[in-house]
Amino acid sequence: MARMQGKVAIVTGAAKGIGAATAKALAREGAKVVCSDFDAENGQVVADEIAGEGGTATFFRHDVTDEAQWEAVVKLAEEKFGGLHVVVNNAGIAPEAGPIEEKTLADWRHTIEVDLDSVFLGCKHGIRTIKKYTSKGGAGGAIVNISSILGLVGQSGASDYNAAKGGVRLLTKSAALECADAGYNIRVNSVHPGYIDTPMVKNVINRGVMGGATVGANEMREMLIMQHPIGRLGIAEEIANAILFLSSDESTFMTGSEVVVDGGYTT
Ligand code: NAD
Repeated sequence: MARMQGKVAIVTGAAKGIGAATAKALAREGAKVVCSDFDAENGQVVADEIAGEGGTATFFRHDVTDEAQWEAVVKLAEEKFGGLHVVVNNAGIAPEAGPIEEKTLADWRHTIEVDLDSVFLGCKHGIRTIKKYTSKGGAGGAIVNISSILGLVGQSGASDYNAAKGGVRLLTKSAALECADAGYNIRVNSVHPGYIDTPMVKNVINRGVMGGATVGANEMREMLIMQHPIGRLGIAEEIANAILFLSSDESTFMTGSEVVVDGGYTT
């Protein structure tokens, strides 16, 4: 049997990069997937590609910072696909690098809103809904929160992103314990990617800001590669594989775990 047969999943940030690869991986394993993103054009393309491969998916235009839209997206999953078992909180932004003394409070708040508040909302509405369709000894549910290596170690110039992704790491552990204490069969884990070759990292490379220095795109790419002992950047499918594992019943004894997929970056 396919690994996600009978499961309904919401994947945020599904229009591109890691989210698109994850939505496709879950659908290939039999999940019905709500592809959520505020990029409607690319999000619809991903949902259509899944359908073209024989999978089941629908696109939902969704700003993950908006609570009313979270209420709407879980309702869509229930009404269209009959329930909800998995939420992948993946949507996020990489803000421009820069020293704390030059960052504005507005910049800081925007990063925290998109990269951390959204995960809180996804956990809140995910747990409230998934608990209706799961039970102890019966069907299990999962929430997978996408943090970063920068949720584990610091980086000069990335104070807002570090704070948000570190917050995601501990929010995950808190949610995992709450679900276990409440007797819900919902596991909550975080994934910590190294640098993955997605539109987000292409932007980071083009900006060329590392620590205090600004460099050309080729040099920036080489600098990033050098930080990964494995000798290359990751690809989105390598993160999707870890998310699929944590979403499936193959990982039923894992909750509150931080899964590092970083080519050795933090080793
Ligand atoms: P990406 O920029 O390629 O894709 C992110 C998607 O999120 C986009 O489709 C974008 O439209 C969507 N999005 C952004 N803000 C949104 C909002 N407010 N509401 C709804 N959708 C929104 O990024 P990616 O590289 O695939 O990253 C995905 C996640 O993985 C992010 O949380 C990122 O921080 C994390 N991550 C990425 C890397 C990496 O190297 N690429 C490393 C560590 C962690």
